[in-house]
Amino acid sequence: MTKKGRPCLFCNAAAREELEAKIITGRITQTEAARQLGQSRQSVNDHMRKHVTMSVQGAMESLGFEPITLPVPEPVDVSLETGLNVYNTLSNISQVSMTIW
Ligand SMILES: [Zn+2]
Repeated sequence: MTKKGRPCLFCNAAAREELEAKIITGRITQTEAARQLGQSRQSVNDHMRKHVTMSVQGAMESLGFEPITLPVPEPVDVSLETGLNVYNTLSNISQVSMTIW
């Protein structure tokens, strides 16, 4: 699933969780996040589609949003059910991103 390659700068950003939460909740656009990180919008888009993790849940709570229910990741053995939950979660994120655009 995950391609090896260049490290994702967003993943290593200090404000990663906060920015993820803001993007997901529509507080800022991916373009704005990209500007803050000094990255291309495409790299932010890739990160949001591929790398958003459970860590965003705590960040959303800290921003005053209802925490979204995310499945606990299974790093080695991903069950079918968990896989579907991840898919649904990512689909929701994708839809939010679409409305931002
Ligand atoms: Zn990333």
